[in-house]
Amino acid sequence: MMFHEMSGKDVEQALSTDLEKGLTEKEAEKRIRQYGFNELEEGEEKSALILFLSQFKDFMTLVLLAATVISGLLGEYVDAIAIIAIVLINGFLGFSQERRAEKSLEALKELSAPQVNVLRSGHWVKIPSKEVTLGDILKFESGDRIGADLRIVKANNLEIEESALTGESIPSPKSATPISGENVSLGDLHNMAFMGTMVTRGNGIGIVTGIGMKTAMGEIADMIQNAEILTTPLQRRLEQLGKILIVVALLLTLLVVLVGVWHGHDLYSMFLAGVSLAVAAIPEGLPAIVTIALSLGVQRMIRKNAIVRKLPAVETLGCATVICSDKTGTMTQNKMTVTHLWSGGETWKVSGTGYEPKGIFKQGETEIHPLKEKSLYQLLTFGLLCNHAELKMKNEEYFVDGDPTEGALLVSALKAGLTRDLLLKEFTIEQEFPFDSTRKMMSMMIRDKHGKRYVITKGAPDVLLDICRSVLWRSREQPLINEYREKVQESIDGLAAQALRTIAIAFKPVIAGEKISSERDAEKDLIFIGLQGMIDPPRPEVRQAIKECKEAGIRTVMITGDHAVTAKAIARQLGILHSGHPKVIDGTMLNDMTVDELEDMIEEVSVFARVSPDHKLKIVKAFQNRGHIVAMTGDGINDAPAIKTADIGISMGITGTDVAKEASSLVLLDDNFATIKAAIQEGRNIYENIRKFIRYLLASNVGEILVMLFAMLLSLPLPVVPIQILWVNLVTDGLPAMALGLDQPEEDVMKRKPRHPREGVFARGLGWKVVSRGFLIGLVTLVAFMTVYYQNTDNLAYAQTVAFATLVLAQLIHVFDCRSERSVLARNPFGNLYLVMAVLSSVLLMLVVIYVPALQPVFHTLPILPSDWLLILCMSAIPTFLLAGTYYIRKKA
Ligand code: ATP
Repeated sequence: MMFHEMSGKDVEQALSTDLEKGLTEKEAEKRIRQYGFNELEEGEEKSALILFLSQFKDFMTLVLLAATVISGLLGEYVDAIAIIAIVLINGFLGFSQERRAEKSLEALKELSAPQVNVLRSGHWVKIPSKEVTLGDILKFESGDRIGADLRIVKANNLEIEESALTGESIPSPKSATPISGENVSLGDLHNMAFMGTMVTRGNGIGIVTGIGMKTAMGEIADMIQNAEILTTPLQRRLEQLGKILIVVALLLTLLVVLVGVWHGHDLYSMFLAGVSLAVAAIPEGLPAIVTIALSLGVQRMIRKNAIVRKLPAVETLGCATVICSDKTGTMTQNKMTVTHLWSGGETWKVSGTGYEPKGIFKQGETEIHPLKEKSLYQLLTFGLLCNHAELKMKNEEYFVDGDPTEGALLVSALKAGLTRDLLLKEFTIEQEFPFDSTRKMMSMMIRDKHGKRYVITKGAPDVLLDICRSVLWRSREQPLINEYREKVQESIDGLAAQALRTIAIAFKPVIAGEKISSERDAEKDLIFIGLQGMIDPPRPEVRQAIKECKEAGIRTVMITGDHAVTAKAIARQLGILHSGHPKVIDGTMLNDMTVDELEDMIEEVSVFARVSPDHKLKIVKAFQNRGHIVAMTGDGINDAPAIKTADIGISMGITGTDVAKEASSLVLLDDNFATIKAAIQEGRNIYENIRKFIRYLLASNVGEILVMLFAMLLSLPLPVVPIQILWVNLVTDGLPAMALGLDQPEEDVMKRKPRHPREGVFARGLGWKVVSRGFLIGLVTLVAFMTVYYQNTDNLAYAQTVAFATLVLAQLIHVFDCRSERSVLARNPFGNLYLVMAVLSSVLLMLVVIYVPALQPVFHTLPILPSDWLLILCMSAIPTFLLAGTYYIRKKA
């Protein structure tokens, strides 16, 4: 028999598992060893050798290698071997950089891999879906991606979208009943759930019947595209720029060679010099360094609890002008405690903090026994029955497994001495209509010992009130005439004004024979029992984060499903709601507005309350139409469209559904608003660091080309020899540029306005800085060369050594200038220890090349006399300090 034909019990037996307890950890481990991990095989990885060889596919490098081989054959062994060694080291560095970039991107993919809820040794635990094995019992709900092939054994209003397998985009309803017949098509297997499909409604439990490649998805795995790694806009811009730079570098090199030959240099030496210059001047390492800087930045973000799922987000983060953030759990702690209860005109308070189930009920100042007050008893009982949360303990601290709102209701009932086990002796739960944030309520159908059935509904009070026909007033049912409606509304507003989140509870007896098959039948004509008001304190760090965002030119907007009055009270505490953006809009107003109408007023709004997920899309669009770069958070399945449309879609690591996570480009591991701010700051910093090393590398290259060009134009000999240029390219350019990628942000990085997303690579004066510094580096190197050369024209190698040292030092001093948008003097030069180390090691390697006798013939150097170091130091300081001086003069003026 196939699994779909069997009953749940038979499947349980066939797979030797236990529906109540699941597999034991030991058994699961054994099965994983036997059947392997639950993963689809991926396409082949690029082999290390191919990646290494691909470092040499660059045309100029090949020309250089060919030229070197020729010079080797002509007898220049030392030069040839040295050049080949340098090219190999360069290739190896490129290889390890790319490898590292690839590895960190892979690690990112692992981090954002989906998790599943599995029953092991009697406890529900969250584990990576990779570790699921045959016979495991999985629990899933709306928004989850199914982790393996399952035989469903329990289904509550369950619907699963299976388009990845069947092409059918309308979700198919699922149930636990066996289906007869062997050859049932995939689309008709209503009691099976398949790996990779998406739960769009309800919840359920299933037994794993297939894993990894032995799933329906595994059979078509070849057709599934691997997640592509996107390039960022800057990477694409740099790619285009790279092509232009290659042409410019080649043309300039050609010019150097032609002018050199014209002025009497021999063709062969000019050819080798030209090719070396081209190899040095073409910033072929730039894309790899950019990827590394991005991925190192991404790792720093992970340490701050933000996972980037799509690389372009790193850049877009720095451009964000508005953050639309959920309230509950993101701005608040999501640790809810019921403090006030209301029913039929009576109010009670309950003491206690957090989830500790200890507290005293009081009416006014008098302590009362909660189970003796009929309406309070009902309010607490139904709040506990219409509830899935469980109270657990970890490290001597209580925590809620499940929805925190339900946790609060559970704890208030426990404080009164009620327990779910006790209630389940009197009532059985027959059916459930799960919570969704569009309806803003959930319902259960229960049956008591006498066979009488009831619907219990809990949800947002204002929404629930609209579907009630009557209200319990002092334990008597009264029709909801205006008088009562207004009184209830007053209490709702009263609790909300104290920043309390309110949940209303209602019920109705089901008449014998009444058919309740959908939530529409259940959630009407109810009897309103009362309210429970809970505190959910703001996260302490959020106020400061919002303030810093404001200083950085980024607005924060609160979007919440909660009541407008509660939202307003919390927004005020957090400093979101103020005279600049005084408006609060709620869901009903949003319903009546077009995007254009919303756009006209959106700049004044800072709180959107009682919104449904589809409103979020409207809000994103309205902001985007006004030219904003929008970061939008979300956690539910219905938030996905808004998250996808936003420039930066953000999902919640703890409470987020798989659907929301997959749609997002950034996941907050701690669900915390302050993490968004930290990620934006990091995003800005990464971009600035990339600008820093682009500036450094290009200015260095301009300097290298210009010193050669000037010398050729003046009919001078080569100021630096090919091997020296290659050395500069390897040592001076490589390490310090990498260290700039790790630089700390400038203090004012969160005081600047957001960057324009289409800003070019050379924006904000970068182009001028590259050309001016590059020009000066070339010039001072030439001046140092000429000064020494004209003292003794017979000792060309010595003058070349001085020029080489000047070129190296001018670049190494200039690298400190690149750390600041303002001036080299604006920052402590020792602030970036990586850079200090990189510069020191470059200096050391330069001294080795100049002073170690064995290396002198290889690098064509001679030991520099102490007196000439003064000249070298003065010359090499000029490009950086001259222009730092002009900065201050301009600033004063
Ligand atoms: P945010 O959108 O800021 O995360 P939220 O949690 O209030 O806030 P929703 O989850 O959409 O947003 O909830 C909307 C409303 O539905 C809540 O204000 C509350 O009144 C009600 N509600 C929330 N959770 C439940 C639940 N588990 N059962 C019944 N009603 C609920």
